[in-house]
Amino acid sequence: MSTPEARPRLIDRFGREVNYVRLSITDRCDFRCVYCMAEQMTFLPREQVLTLEELYQLSEAFVSLGVRKIRLTGGEPLIRRNVMSLIERLGALEGLDELVLTTNGSQLPKMAEGLRAAGVRRINISLDSLKPDRFRQLTRIGKLEQVLAGIDAAQAAGFERIKLNAVILRGRNDDEILDLAGFAIQRGLDLTFIEEMPLGQIEEHDRAEAFMPSEAIREVLQTRYALMPSTETTGGPSRYWHVEGEPTRIGFISPHSHNFCHLCNRVRVTVEGRLLLCLGNEHSMDLRSVLREHPGDQAALQSAIRAAMDIKPERHEFSLDAEPQIVRFMNMTGG
Ligand code: SAM
Ligand code: SF4
Repeated sequence: MSTPEARPRLIDRFGREVNYVRLSITDRCDFRCVYCMAEQMTFLPREQVLTLEELYQLSEAFVSLGVRKIRLTGGEPLIRRNVMSLIERLGALEGLDELVLTTNGSQLPKMAEGLRAAGVRRINISLDSLKPDRFRQLTRIGKLEQVLAGIDAAQAAGFERIKLNAVILRGRNDDEILDLAGFAIQRGLDLTFIEEMPLGQIEEHDRAEAFMPSEAIREVLQTRYALMPSTETTGGPSRYWHVEGEPTRIGFISPHSHNFCHLCNRVRVTVEGRLLLCLGNEHSMDLRSVLREHPGDQAALQSAIRAAMDIKPERHEFSLDAEPQIVRFMNMTGG
């Protein structure tokens, strides 16, 4: 049997292979979505945030240990200064099979083509409303027309797959479930509906009251579309349905109503270089201090990452009744 050192795979205590890393590359954003951020946010001082070089070194270490997929997220990844230089290097990183990105779409009109050329194959774009006023309310400052132009630009740039992400809040945008699905179908895009998760304390709405379970969303969709369950997976927690006669797949991420922890293949790295072993728990390993105390030492990073596998929790528990147990906001975590 090969020693763990010689084996390029990351396996946790429960036998799950970790081959997917979500990397938050900035906590900043040009939107302030009501479920993600407080209206007044304090962002981290620059020295606490990993540099682009550190982000690259970290990615290299993960890939050398068997990670095959990296998703860049945030905050809004595309507003990080010089982000294209990181994306171009990652696009050329040997052993990394999939470089993907989650974005609010605002920068895509000017960046979609460059991203595709740099090797980003798939892209997720968040879109919670097709009504300009409501879009503005939900994002507090976002402009719908800019995001729609971003979707056009992404389609023109020829990504292999484009997926829309919609967080549905009861009483806020649940009347747009069918319109969002219609938009995705008309454009030939995939669409995932996400249940709101209790990450960070927000005042703007009561998360329990606004909670819209995936099951209820699917019932609405079935009033218009024939949905066929699919066994397909994209390596994420989404469960997919096909819309009969259309290429569009509709997915549901249901951290409350469906526990997907046993299939978990991922870890996250916060913008401060904290390796988070689970979205719903605080178990973590400080990789920034390894990067800064041992500059350029890939072996030190690799051994810290391997050691972290032993503290990956078995599962998360989200409760809407209690105070949020997780005090960090989604923009810190990397959604
Ligand atoms: N700014 C980019 C964007 O909006 O796509 C990337 C980061 S954002 C944190 C990633 C995803 O997390 C988005 O689709 C967003 O809707 C989702 N999200 C943010 N806060 C959430 C929460 N509390 N519950 C569920 N999804 C959330
Ligand atoms: Fe920004 Fe994305 Fe959070 Fe919205 S969900 S505030 S776009 S990071």
